[in-house]
Amino acid sequence: MELLERGARCGGALETIRRDGFVIETGADSFLSEKTSAAELARRLGLGAELIPTREIYGKTFVVRAGRLVEVPAGFMMLATAHFGPVFRSSLFSPLGKLRMALEPFIATRTSSDDESLDSFVTRRLGREVLDRVAQALAGGIYTADPKHLSTTATIPRFVEMERRYGSLFKGMRAAERARASKSPEVSGARWSLFQSFRNGMATLPETIARRLGESIRTGTEVVGMAPTADGWRLGLAAGDSIDAEAVICAAPAYAAARIVSPLEPAAAKLLGAITYASAATVNLTFRESDFEGPPRAFGFVVPAVEHRRIIAASFSSFKFEGRAPAGAILARAFIGGELHREMMNLSDDEMVAAVRDEFRALLGVKAAPGITVVRRWPDAMPQYDVGHLARVAEIERLIAPIPGFAIAGAAYRGVGSPDCVRSGEAAADTIFAKLSTPK
Ligand SMILES: Cc1cc2nc3c(=O)[nH]c(=O)nc-3n(C[C@H](O)[C@H](O)[C@H](O)COP(=O)(O)OP(=O)(O)OC[C@H]3O[C@@H](n4cnc5c(N)ncnc54)[C@H](O)[C@@H]3O)c2cc1C
Repeated sequence: MELLERGARCGGALETIRRDGFVIETGADSFLSEKTSAAELARRLGLGAELIPTREIYGKTFVVRAGRLVEVPAGFMMLATAHFGPVFRSSLFSPLGKLRMALEPFIATRTSSDDESLDSFVTRRLGREVLDRVAQALAGGIYTADPKHLSTTATIPRFVEMERRYGSLFKGMRAAERARASKSPEVSGARWSLFQSFRNGMATLPETIARRLGESIRTGTEVVGMAPTADGWRLGLAAGDSIDAEAVICAAPAYAAARIVSPLEPAAAKLLGAITYASAATVNLTFRESDFEGPPRAFGFVVPAVEHRRIIAASFSSFKFEGRAPAGAILARAFIGGELHREMMNLSDDEMVAAVRDEFRALLGVKAAPGITVVRRWPDAMPQYDVGHLARVAEIERLIAPIPGFAIAGAAYRGVGSPDCVRSGEAAADTIFAKLSTPK
């Protein structure tokens, strides 16, 4: 087995920098507990004791409204709630917006089962304010996507199903709450917070795997094409040489996979190439607690596009997870760019830091200069799940299935979260074993 990696290190969007007592995440900073594949892989690798929960005492998330941080109402999940009380008491929505939301159980159910954009789904069921004030930033923000294009069936299937099954998100949320309450704490996963990470950062996972694989990893090796041989494949490398393999899993982004499969299955390559990507950047900054008038004792905040600010979200990493900063210090990080703020990617690193400092000054009152600053760009790193995404992926899978000894995996297809990517890799491995054990 050989792992061919274009970059200088393994791990892709999982990258941790450990410096001066800080554990700085430049890419993903946590993963959803309820999707268990990442934690299960960690346990198989002997990393069970390294898994850490979020610090629930700081488990608040804020949304920027009119230049101020307003807490997401208790029980509000991305775009819906099972309890209108906290929503009505919140200053996040206008009285009209709240009224519109309260009408949700009475809104007719959509008859078509065709895919729909986040924009259409949320405005139809809950009104424009929920879209503009929260859903775009909370749900669309995960994909750094334009809600006018983001597929609901690919990204928020549970809410689509709630409408179909209960005729209302409010009723669906109530039913989900009752189902959770009837389960024992063990089954409902009460021991684990909604998100988890690793004591020493998310890169613990790829670093541990890389140590296990040892010499079989070839970094600085970009695959640009593949052609059949008598007993497998010949992979063409950007450097001009090639490698022979009995079977291949392509876990590169869809645009790289498109190039690689193009000579074998041009129709699949065309569909792969049609999966577009957004770019983003993270800016990590360290401060002293005394730099803040009131330290941000929360997980972070999101910034709706209607606020016209220069960051799309921020995490207070050292409040979110234990051990991310030395005592008396704060580690914060901002997210920049995405589909709705493409122009931000044209800034230099210094300009990005200046923009984040401006926003932190305006929103958090921090005037002090940061200690450490880490800017990390992620060009073309966020696959966009546009309306029709799942049908496109199903067609890609159908076209690729007959190719012997070949499978695809990664964030471009059936989930962008780290657990989704682990599951996708494992499914690809199963496919390859099945294909190799089938007589030709
Ligand atoms: C900034 C950021 C923050 C995120 N935050 C979270 C989060 O908090 N929680 C969460 O669950 N998810 C998060 N995600 C999403 C998640 O981390 C990613 O979707 C996931 O890690 C992607 O994994 P992947 O293996 O599909 O792709 P990648 O991590 O992009 O890995 C693809 C690898 O393929 C290599 N490669 C590309 N082309 C070639 C080629 N031709 N030949 C050889 N190698 C090639 C690349 O160098 C790269 O190492 C975040 C993503 C980003 C970018």
